[in-house]
Amino acid sequence: MDTRFTEEELGFQAEVRQFFAEVLDDDLKTMFHGAEAATQFKEGMIEYQRRLNAKGWMAPGWPVEYGGQDWTMTQHFIFNAERGKAGAPAPIAFGVTMVAPVIYSYGSEGQKARFLPRILNSDDWWCQGYSEPGAGSDLASLQCKAERDGEEYVVNGSKIWTSFAHAADWIFCLVRTDNSGRKQDGISFLLIDMKTPGVTVSPIETIDGIYHLNEVHFENVRVPVENRIGEEGKGWTYAKSLLVHERLYIAEVAESKRNLEQLRELARAEVNGGESLLDDPIFASRLAEVEIDLMALEFTELRVLTSAAEGGMPGPESSLLKLQGTTIQKSLQELRMDVAGYYSLALQGDLSEQQFGHEFSDQAQKLYFRGRASSIYGGSDEVQKNVTAKHVLGL
Ligand SMILES: Cc1cc2nc3c(=O)[nH]c(=O)nc-3n(C[C@H](O)[C@H](O)[C@H](O)COP(=O)(O)OP(=O)(O)OC[C@H]3O[C@@H](n4cnc5c(N)ncnc54)[C@H](O)[C@@H]3O)c2cc1C
Repeated sequence: MDTRFTEEELGFQAEVRQFFAEVLDDDLKTMFHGAEAATQFKEGMIEYQRRLNAKGWMAPGWPVEYGGQDWTMTQHFIFNAERGKAGAPAPIAFGVTMVAPVIYSYGSEGQKARFLPRILNSDDWWCQGYSEPGAGSDLASLQCKAERDGEEYVVNGSKIWTSFAHAADWIFCLVRTDNSGRKQDGISFLLIDMKTPGVTVSPIETIDGIYHLNEVHFENVRVPVENRIGEEGKGWTYAKSLLVHERLYIAEVAESKRNLEQLRELARAEVNGGESLLDDPIFASRLAEVEIDLMALEFTELRVLTSAAEGGMPGPESSLLKLQGTTIQKSLQELRMDVAGYYSLALQGDLSEQQFGHEFSDQAQKLYFRGRASSIYGGSDEVQKNVTAKHVLGL
């Protein structure tokens, strides 16, 4: 494989690099990383995403007719690599990466015209209503019910682990519209306005101390039939296509590359007894192992995306990428905890105004705790292994 870029690709790389160097100005950096980051995060993301949209780069992977870019796979690769290097986040996935492909692939013309421009301009924030207390890995067992009443559905039931539901304007929801046949066949895909009477959101506390998880309850929530995607009872098909996009997103190769580079710098600067941590053979070999895995993942991702570009959507390979991507993320988080040493063990509340040890210690702990969940969201490791065994390896 020839991995050198052409002159045009180098020109494109320079344009993307310059854009990301300028887009994250001091105001945005403060919103993402400053003391008020938890409360300003949504505001900051909207501002950042609108700047991407103004450049036409909010959703480069969408079909051109809906606002995507007619880029080659190499250009997509360059774009993501430069974004990662600059430390710029990917747009929040629920709208642009997850529900939008379902809308433009299976939605009506009215739904496309109504929702896609608002997603591009970050006017609507979305959340994902898949999991229920009794339906996670076995998602098709979901019970949240939608009964037809004229031109409306009446929805009753609960969703759980709903990330950012408290900040969302809309939820895309899997609901049961039929109980008579195979459980996968009675599921429909509804778009529900979070302001509809009967929708309530309650928070779930997590070990990382950041508010992101919720339960969402539906009590006699009336949803227009026109908010159903595609056919009644075909929601399982749409839901699975969304999971492919979700899992590709979670692999986060560009972010891991940046984290690895940061880690190398931190380890180089960490000197003890005249010797840098990077010179410690055990630490260096662990870092090298992760780097090799990451390189292999990057090439696997490129292979999958290139063959998908030639013949449509990637499929179950996304499970492989999600599994390996999150394994690497967790290894990097563990190494960061090791570099921070015992400073990373201080409870966040203990720090108050004082900074102990490294600036990144507190962050290392949050990332570590939060990162454990990557083996669960988007489908657990075991589920990804089952999918890979059955559909990729044909076992
Ligand atoms: C931080 C976080 C954010 C999330 N965000 C969302 C969200 O926004 N929207 C949403 O809908 N959901 C969300 N989820 C839910 C997530 O998708 C589910 O938690 C996940 O699918 C696992 O389901 P479960 O929790 O019911 O565990 P279970 O399905 O009960 O699994 C329990 C254990 O059994 C194992 N297991 C289950 N079945 C099998 C099998 N067949 N073979 C081998 N092992 C198996 C699992 O791997 C796991 O270890 C989120 C979860 C987390 C942790």
